[in-house]
Parts: sequence; C-alpha cells; structure tokens
Amino acid sequence: MSVDPECKPELSVVLPAFNEAEGITVFLAQLTEVLKRCCPDFEIWVIDDGSRDATWRSLCTALSEHHRVHGLRFTRNFGKEAAILAGLRHARGRAVIVMDADGQHPTDLLPKMLNLWRSGQAQIVAARKIRRPSDSLSARLKARLFNGLMRTLTGLDLDGASDFRLLDRNVVNTLLAFPEKVRFFRGMTVWTGFTTVPIGFDVAPRIAGNSQWSTAQLTKLAITAITSYSAKPLGMIFRLGLLGMAAAGLLLLQALYSWATHIAVSGWTSLTVVVLFFGSAILLGIGVLGAYLAQIFDEIKGRPEFLVAEVLGDGQEDRRC
Ligand code: UDP
Ligand code: MG
Repeated sequence: MSVDPECKPELSVVLPAFNEAEGITVFLAQLTEVLKRCCPDFEIWVIDDGSRDATWRSLCTALSEHHRVHGLRFTRNFGKEAAILAGLRHARGRAVIVMDADGQHPTDLLPKMLNLWRSGQAQIVAARKIRRPSDSLSARLKARLFNGLMRTLTGLDLDGASDFRLLDRNVVNTLLAFPEKVRFFRGMTVWTGFTTVPIGFDVAPRIAGNSQWSTAQLTKLAITAITSYSAKPLGMIFRLGLLGMAAAGLLLLQALYSWATHIAVSGWTSLTVVVLFFGSAILLGIGVLGAYLAQIFDEIKGRPEFLVAEVLGDGQEDRRC
C-alpha cells in the first residue's frame, strides 16, 4: 500500500507498543471502530519499541487488514519517549493523538477530544487520570512521589497527567523542532504553553499482559524529567553547602572551646556526625552533578534517539514479518 505524502489525514493516532502481542490486535480493532465513527479520515502509527514477543507479527497481520494502520519497528527497546518521538515524526495528521497501546487509555474519549480541537477551543487536549483502580498501591505511591518531586523541583504540576494527549499540528511541529535528544513528552507539551484543555478519565485495566516499567526505568525517567526541566537541584547543593559551612563554623568554635578547656576528647560524637553528614552530602552532590553531566554528555554525543529496523505501510515497506 502506498500513501500519497501530500494527502494529509485529519487525524494520526500514535501508539507506542512494547511486548503487547496479546492485546494489540483487540485494541486496534476497538480503536478503528471508534475512529470510523468519529473521524473517518485517520491513520494509525504503531511504534514497536523493540518488543521481544510476537507484537510485530501481530502488527503485520493487522496491517494487512487495515490499510490505515502503519507500523514501525525499532532495532531494540529505546523506551516509550523514543517511540512517541518516532510516531510524531511519521504522523501526517492535522491533529495527532498519542495513547497507550494496552487499552488503558479509553477510546471513547476520542470524539470528545476531537470536538474540543475542531471547535478551536484547544490546541492540546490533555487527558488526566481521575481514578486508577487497576494500579497497585506501590504504583500509586511511586506516581505520587514522582509528581511531588516534579512539582517541587521544576514547578510543573503533573498530578494525574498522562501521555494520552491530542496535539494540534502546530504543537507537533513545535515539539519536533526542539533540538534536544533527551525528551520528556508530558512535560514538554506543558512547557510549550499552547492552549490546553484537560479532560478526565478513569484508567481502564490492561487488555492483556503487565506494565513493562521497571523501578530502574522509572527512576531514569524521573531523573531525565527533572534534569531536563530544572537546574534547581544544583542550587539546592549550593544552599546545602552554605548551611554546612555555617554548621562547621559553629562546630569549630565548639572544638576550640573543648581544646581550650582540655575536654577535647568529648567531641568525638559530634565529629562522627559531621563526618557522616558531610560525607553523604558530598556524595549526594556529586550524584546530582553527575546526572546533569550525563545529560549534557548524551546531548553532545548527538546520537539518534532510536534506530528503525522496519517500516510498514508508508509506501517504503520492507516486509519481513
Ligand atoms: N511502552 C513502550 N516502551 C517501553 C515501555 C512501555 O513503548 O519501554 C509502551 C507500552 O507498550 C504501552 C505504554 O508504553 O503502550 C505504557 O506502558 P505500560 O502500560 O507498561 O505503563 P503504565 O500503563 O504502567 O504507565
Ligand atoms: Mg499501561
């Protein structure tokens, strides 16, 4: 199937997918049903983020059945942020909706999102999680911790925020023009300041499978999100240093007093506390500096955000299903 690049659909839907073989076919069927009713002029881009299961094979079957579905497969798992970026680069719609491929983002919200955009009320429609009954307690606690940190350190309020968003073409082009390699989609769209209308949704249970986010991946995303948006942690180290110097000054006075009054050995406890406190504060400081340095290193290397193994459905098929 070849698509005329000049013929732009009204809507592109971008679906990042990692190990979604079990549910992707059902989800695509649900999605196309809804789209046929509310926006017949659509295309779907599924970005297979280096799945290790049969996601790509399921996609190949779906692709042959729905001519509006396109697929792109990464050479390996580059992460959801890279998958969203790849989808935005390929999408040609006048509006683009980014949503999860596991069925947790309800498709019945699409008509409402489209109407808000069509009526000119919104350049971004941001779906916010109201209830998330299927999330475990630990997942909810992690989200709360992450959002609290983001609010304190970057000023961005991401409480309930999700990657489920409709973006006007203008917003997509703006995001694609950003030169940075390390990206945090959710925060970047808020940062642009385009007219945003929030709408709420209850997170549905997954169609199949389990969430693929490990604690290590979430920690990495949190560090990326914070270091991309704020230099506040660097300022905090500086203030901590000043506080430490003031405390050290007081302790120096105490040490001099102990020496003068020949009770120097009684300072052992305070000395231990000082060594432990400053030792860990210095390590923490080096860690924060390291996180920023790593980010600068990644940007300077200038490597591509992802590598594509195969593209299906945009007229340049390399059919190796
Ligand atoms: N995902 C991805 N790459 C990854 C991890 C996840 O493309 O490395 C996709 C996944 O297939 C799903 C979406 O991102 O469509 C959300 O992932 P998940 O359901 O694991 O996260 P949660 O719903 O817990 O936020
Ligand atoms: Mg999910």
